[in-house]
Amino acid sequence: MSNLNQIKSTFPIFQTIANKNLVYLDNASTTQKPQVVLDAIQDYYQNCNANVHRGLYSLGQKSTEAYEGVRQKIANFISAEDSSSIIFTKGTTEAINLVASAWGDSNINEGDEILISEMEHHSNIIPWQLLAKRKKAVLKHIPLNVNRELNLELLDSLLTDRTKILALVHQSNVIGIVNNIKKIADKIKNTNLVFLVDGAQSVTHLPINVQELGCDFFVFSSHKMYGPTGAGVLYAKTNVLNTMEPYQGGGEMIDNVTLSHSTWNDVPWKFEAGTPNIAQVVGLGSAVDFIYDIGLDVIEKNLNQLTKLALEGMKTIPGINLFHSGDASETVISFTTDGVHPQDLAMFMNEDEIAFRVGHHCAQPLMKHFGVTSTARISFAVYNTTKDVEKFIKSLKNNLDILRENSRDKTDPNLKQVPEVEI
Ligand code: PLP
Repeated sequence: MSNLNQIKSTFPIFQTIANKNLVYLDNASTTQKPQVVLDAIQDYYQNCNANVHRGLYSLGQKSTEAYEGVRQKIANFISAEDSSSIIFTKGTTEAINLVASAWGDSNINEGDEILISEMEHHSNIIPWQLLAKRKKAVLKHIPLNVNRELNLELLDSLLTDRTKILALVHQSNVIGIVNNIKKIADKIKNTNLVFLVDGAQSVTHLPINVQELGCDFFVFSSHKMYGPTGAGVLYAKTNVLNTMEPYQGGGEMIDNVTLSHSTWNDVPWKFEAGTPNIAQVVGLGSAVDFIYDIGLDVIEKNLNQLTKLALEGMKTIPGINLFHSGDASETVISFTTDGVHPQDLAMFMNEDEIAFRVGHHCAQPLMKHFGVTSTARISFAVYNTTKDVEKFIKSLKNNLDILRENSRDKTDPNLKQVPEVEI
């Protein structure tokens, strides 16, 4: 698909009367779905639907081929050494919980240390807190430096011979910063540390080669990369996978079962108990084809251009505090506005059909670091255009003027009323 301007028209949600003028800038939360992905899901149910790995009949084989074909496609997409390194989960969150349980329970002991960072999504904090509690282990974190980067100068002093796992986000869902995973992997390469990378944001626009990155685990969600909800990926190095106990028990993950004892299926199926989210995985495969069709380089270029344009526009508006370095490769922009609560701003801009996120973005420790409870956040996808950014900037400026004027004169009877809403 060469013409970027045509891309929005391939997303049915933007063709509906209700959403034809929608400027959707909450892509770090979830992306919209192109027609090809919707078609793939419908086609699966219409022409292939049967359980996987079970039926000897043709439909069962077709369904298994569709599902297992995506495993190989994902392995190629992130340059995994082998498709047996790819485990399907329902998303990033489940993938991290799987590691914290299946790897953590057999590898973490009392007094061991788990290292995360201050910029993690709650999905990469809570599973480790739960593991630390179960095992009486210690959870430590890498703080940010004054440039909002991971303070890697402290890494050596944070690592001890009790540190067993390092779990870091690749790209922050709040400040957009992309951590230099390869550099970190190089720093720890002479230790026995296992390294998990949360790629929920990065995989959507950066080429990922897990072998070059040097991580043991890499996790991401389908729904942030134009695929359906309910599917996600855990990549794990085979030698690490082989040391892990099952995550959940049930059908498919077993080899032989007696009433008192069971043995396990080979990897990756050992970690996929029960009927998997087959249609969603097929949809994810179609999303990967969609991304290949456009080209990750084209997607990345579009995101960088839109980020640059948005930053330039926002800098012309007084009283905007950007949590951003100005580097357009940081494709998520968080901001606050002097005198106006982000929630009020989002509600006013919703009237202009502009959708973006406000809140703590599931990163409360990072909010605490910045001394705020919430920010507004815009984030881009391949279907966003310069027109979207121009509309956003215009609406931002107008609504800030209105809201600031309102707060100056609370007695004005013509004020737009802002209802109280929990965020
Ligand atoms: N990690 C990061 C960096 C994210 O941005 C998100 C979602 O916003 C997650 C993890 C959790 O993803 P999911 O809710 O799809 O499991």
